[in-house]
Amino acid sequence: MKAIAFGFPKLGDKREFKKLLEDFWKGKISEEELHTGMKDLALWRAELYKESVDLIPSNELSYYDFMLDTALMVGALPQRFKDFKGMETYFEMARGKNALEMTKWFNTNYHYLVPEIEREKFQLFINKPLNDYTFYKQKGYETVPHIIGPYTFLRMSKALRKKEGELPIYEIEKIEDKDQFQRLAQNLTPVYREVLKSLKEAGCQRVHIEEPALVLDTEDWQWDLVHQIYTQLSQEGLPIALFTYYDSVSDYQKYVSLPVQALHLDLVSNDENLENIEKHGFPEDKELIAGIINGRQPWRANLDEKLKLLKELSQHAPNLSVANSCPLYHLPVSVQPEEELPEGLKERLSFAKEKLKELKVLKTAFGGDETALKEVEESRKLLELSFGENAEVRRRITSLKDEDFRRDMPYEERDKLQREILNLPLFPTTTIGSFPQTEEVRKMRTAYRTGKISEEEYKNFIKKQIEKVIAFQEDVGLDVLVHGEFERTDMVEFFAFKLDGVATTKHGWVLSYGSRVYRPPIIYGDVSRPKPMTLEEITYAQSLTDKPVKGMLTGPVTILNWSYYREDVPKRVIAYQIALALLDEVRDLEEAGIKIIQIDEPAFREGVPLKRRDWQEYFNWAVKAFRLCSKAKPETQIHTHMCYSEFNEIIEYIYQMDFDVISIEASRSKGEIIEAFEKFKGWDRQIGIGVYDIHSPAVPTKEEMKLVMERALKVLPKELLWVNPDCGLKTRKWEEVEPALRNMVEMAQELRQEVMAEV
Ligand code: GLN
Ligand code: ZN
Repeated sequence: MKAIAFGFPKLGDKREFKKLLEDFWKGKISEEELHTGMKDLALWRAELYKESVDLIPSNELSYYDFMLDTALMVGALPQRFKDFKGMETYFEMARGKNALEMTKWFNTNYHYLVPEIEREKFQLFINKPLNDYTFYKQKGYETVPHIIGPYTFLRMSKALRKKEGELPIYEIEKIEDKDQFQRLAQNLTPVYREVLKSLKEAGCQRVHIEEPALVLDTEDWQWDLVHQIYTQLSQEGLPIALFTYYDSVSDYQKYVSLPVQALHLDLVSNDENLENIEKHGFPEDKELIAGIINGRQPWRANLDEKLKLLKELSQHAPNLSVANSCPLYHLPVSVQPEEELPEGLKERLSFAKEKLKELKVLKTAFGGDETALKEVEESRKLLELSFGENAEVRRRITSLKDEDFRRDMPYEERDKLQREILNLPLFPTTTIGSFPQTEEVRKMRTAYRTGKISEEEYKNFIKKQIEKVIAFQEDVGLDVLVHGEFERTDMVEFFAFKLDGVATTKHGWVLSYGSRVYRPPIIYGDVSRPKPMTLEEITYAQSLTDKPVKGMLTGPVTILNWSYYREDVPKRVIAYQIALALLDEVRDLEEAGIKIIQIDEPAFREGVPLKRRDWQEYFNWAVKAFRLCSKAKPETQIHTHMCYSEFNEIIEYIYQMDFDVISIEASRSKGEIIEAFEKFKGWDRQIGIGVYDIHSPAVPTKEEMKLVMERALKVLPKELLWVNPDCGLKTRKWEEVEPALRNMVEMAQELRQEVMAEV
């Protein structure tokens, strides 16, 4: 049996990767120094792999993103980057003014660059798999190149497409047209063949091709195409192992009959792959690479169970390897440096380095090694002990009733009540929550965290910020105010710090894109709120003004989707636990006289399963979790906020969340979002369509913003419309925010007068 691992994090023990890139971008180091640093990182990871597993992957250390590298491999360069000048253009494509679009990689929090295929021709451009293979070879490592496969590459790319009409229009979009997809695949495959050929000539013995897109809903014609692609690629005579992950393959039997030598299956995401192996068997002549160590969650595995599973699998597949279920880059590098975790948690955690060790232990234990078998036994004993339980939280969950998920008054009636109380003008103006997080704010937060200033000093500083932002909003003339979120680093981590059952790490960094890192919290036990989390700041802000100040919470689905979570209770239950903690906060805010509460759910869309058939189940609990935490008094106005543009296909579910007001991002696709409401019969909730794009430093004009409102007015009754930017203002500068909001408020005032004059 072989132990196989892939996708080890790029960051380095001390975030060296991030530093290298950023130093290079700032001009602090030369291109040569950048390359030298990257080579050190390449050798570091090779050594780590070598200690634990049998094959060392190469071509994994991208300078920015592996999809960008794949696009460059096959020469899919948009016209605007045609004069490719090495690293300069590489980073232009990644993060320049006209960079490629960035979007979420499957259902993970990694963001990739979406290749743009403008011409239907490809040619080998940068043979990175070969370069990397040769580099390692010279250093004495025999490696196995990992390459994103042609099917996944095309499925995750966009291509130029001619739209028929009076005048032909060209648009760059996802490749959904069958003929176009087939044509592109046909042209692309020879380039991949060339890469395989060059590798074989250089002495490479095996290649790992990643095709995670085969877990998405895949139609028969697409499977046929995949079959053709691999029939051609296998003609190069270089053994191929295919990798799929994040879910079960969409068609097991088609997958295992592909003409390749080895197949990786994710046996962690759900049981379907395993059931299929048991039901249909596994081809005798192929190697099964069993992905049984979870690459996405940070838990130490119950190796005893895993070992049993391996034994069972070996009945079906005598040629068996053990592997991680999906790339390890969704995890931090190592648990080792964490010193302040809650008692008992550290030994239950396993980040990337620890996962490599687990693979090694499993392999050797499978071979009967005594020491390894002892470790297997230890992991079983540890994980049998109960951990992180809270009886009161469990009791609250089991006694939930239907009415806990339902507000006491239907929308129509509570809307009347709220309008009476709030007495807001037509087109009320507001913001999404955060205001500029200046250098000063960040410095003070660090000073507080590192003990340089006292809690009292810090709190006074935050109060001063709140005073300023309230005065500012009154001066600008906004109708519904916010407290500015100066006390928050990150909208999820802030709540993680305050909730019991949720841990945060000091060094648990994960790349979300480029050099950007974040530290996902770890939900390890039953979640509860030991004391109010936001009350002090919100009530202080409200005490300074007669206008309503919005309570500001992060929703249960977003907290869950942006954290690691325990696996011993269903996701639904974790979501309800978080929701109950938030509900307590909602009640406290109401008690303190807060009339409007916003519960942000920007990650509501992200948790949506990869296959359509699993959608209903997800939305059932996701919608209920939101309803549970937002069961406020009828007179409290509940807002939510979401920021992404693919709104249309989930609008039915969003409606079921039963909020009173929603604000949504619409910077790129206002038309599209408004269309969604046009099609939705009976939409009656208030809505703020972002009238300006907060991602841009440009100050929007009144005219631009008015256009958005006018478009919305064609579809929605005027009483439903709010006026707001499309997301929080935290990344903007005050010099940009001030004129932008003044224009926005003036626009709303003018629009009010115009609309009133018409009646
Ligand atoms: N209330 C948050 C803010 O304004 C919302 C952030 C988000 O949608 N990602 O920053
Ligand atoms: Zn947002």
